[in-house]
Amino acid sequence: MVVGCGALGNEVLKNLVLMGAEHLTVVDFDRVESGNLSRSVLFTKEDARQGRYKVDVIAERLKAMNPRLSIRTIRGDIAYDVGLGLVRQMDVIIGCVDNRWARYCINRLCMRAGIPWVDGGIDALEGTVRVFVPGRNCYACNLGPEGLKDLSRRMPCSGVIRREEAAGKAPTTSVIASVIGAVQVQEALKLLHPELLASGQMTSLCGRMFYYEGAQLTGRVVDFQAYDADCPVHDRWEPVRRTSVTESLPVGDALAVLRRELQSDNLTLHLSGDCFVDYVIRRDNDARKEVMLPGRAVSAFVEQDKELSGIPFSGLYQHEYRAVGDDFPYPSLPLSALGIPPQDVLYVSAPTGDFYMEMV
Ligand SMILES: [Zn+2]
Repeated sequence: MVVGCGALGNEVLKNLVLMGAEHLTVVDFDRVESGNLSRSVLFTKEDARQGRYKVDVIAERLKAMNPRLSIRTIRGDIAYDVGLGLVRQMDVIIGCVDNRWARYCINRLCMRAGIPWVDGGIDALEGTVRVFVPGRNCYACNLGPEGLKDLSRRMPCSGVIRREEAAGKAPTTSVIASVIGAVQVQEALKLLHPELLASGQMTSLCGRMFYYEGAQLTGRVVDFQAYDADCPVHDRWEPVRRTSVTESLPVGDALAVLRRELQSDNLTLHLSGDCFVDYVIRRDNDARKEVMLPGRAVSAFVEQDKELSGIPFSGLYQHEYRAVGDDFPYPSLPLSALGIPPQDVLYVSAPTGDFYMEMV
């Protein structure tokens, strides 16, 4: 799975197909713009003119390179739209994203699923590659105080409503994307061949970071192996059981099916990826403003609402559900309206224990 189809994603995908990868999943929510063309080998002016989705263009171009390629496209956001069950089917995930929140989300999925991932980052003439293997090292454990501060600004569910921040767009070149994307693919291929790593024929970057700087031509490999015993982010979700629940099922029905499958009452379904918001109100006013949205959609809702848009977010309060049970007041809403993506793994608490239920 390749997450992000920008400059890095283009390079990574091109290399993967040239190296013979024939089963790919690509994730991106963006459309091709003219600004992408100077550093994206797979996009054309016509794609930008038509405003086509990057994943659609990528699938077409890569199939032209290898007609036997099977490629699944997800037009969405790694933070919300990719189910853990799908991640569990992957051999490796390659992250080609440009912000810490997206990296945090990739890491959380990979750690829960037990799948290794390769991170790449580029900025002007510099770039980095890091490899994370569940049980060995974890992106979240390696975030310093500054990283955690930046992350909390982007988290959709941190107690108050956040304005969406425009991602910092540093000017990058195709050259740095080529260097870093190539190293990412090399490292991903090593992870697919543990026998070569075990025999010492090859060495993985796992637990270290490769840093490259083009202006003075410096390259370094430094340790990057923090792994804290009490980090909740890298908990593995296992064992996983199958459930016949799907994301289109209403909450009430889904709970009934889970009760039957787990032979237990008093279930709680935890909303792990994003929270569900019930209402938004002014702090100095009792008038409820019912919105019933997944948390990530609240900022856009508030911006568009005449009554709320002029109020600073610090003057608003939102009611969040982080878990739903039999007392959830909207049992007819489908699970998808709560922000649960297709093929996700549901985290369910019962009096008899906690269960991880993979949707079909
Ligand atoms: Zn961790």
